[in-house]
Amino acid sequence: MSLSLIAARIAAAESAAGRVAGSVRLIAVSKVQPLERVQAVLDQGHRVFGENYVQEALGKWPAVRDRYGAVDVHMIGPLQTNKAKVAVELFDAIHTVDRPSLAEKLAKLAQARGTSPQMFIQVNTGLEPQKAGILPDAADDFIAACRAMDLPLQGLMCIPPEGEETAPHFRMLAELAARNGLSGLSMGMSSDFEAAIAHGATHIRVGSAIFGARDYAAQ
Ligand SMILES: *Cc1c(COP(=O)(O)O)cnc(C)c1O
Repeated sequence: MSLSLIAARIAAAESAAGRVAGSVRLIAVSKVQPLERVQAVLDQGHRVFGENYVQEALGKWPAVRDRYGAVDVHMIGPLQTNKAKVAVELFDAIHTVDRPSLAEKLAKLAQARGTSPQMFIQVNTGLEPQKAGILPDAADDFIAACRAMDLPLQGLMCIPPEGEETAPHFRMLAELAARNGLSGLSMGMSSDFEAAIAHGATHIRVGSAIFGARDYAAQ
């Protein structure tokens, strides 16, 4: 699907939800996509991308930035603590702060650098044992702890369980954010970004609808 078609669908969803035009940021999720597809989207003027793997992002974005200038790259995959240093140097935002040890490491690195990516806390709204994210019951305390470390929190992020209705998860994340005075909501993917916008998403993460299916075998 073309980028302009996605942009039109975002605009329609913003309008239907009574939201300000342009209030939703589109993160084009480029993980595992061949560089030609990424370049095609860059050539259309898009400058906000999402990646899941530090190593892959490191192999891609410094060269792209040399060529295209400033590009916002958001980390949306699980982040190992031993990759935190590279991550704060490479990414403009990290959507997957999900545990105290990682938050502490990121806060220390940010302090030392004097600057920091924007941070989102990932919430495991579906209570899935295999999935990353702080449990909803622990979110208020974790948010307070991150604030006490001066971590620059932009908002919350979730990935609803596969095959489940997404609306209750989007609603839960929006309530958690509102209760804690956080304005950012990173939620919604190719199959459900319009529903996420209806529930207040400020950052949608759209991959396959923009780039086509991911070919993991070609990696
Ligand atoms: C891969 C991924 C996406 C994009 O998924 P699509 O269904 O291709 O839009 C969004 N968010 C996260 C966290 C992802 O890992």
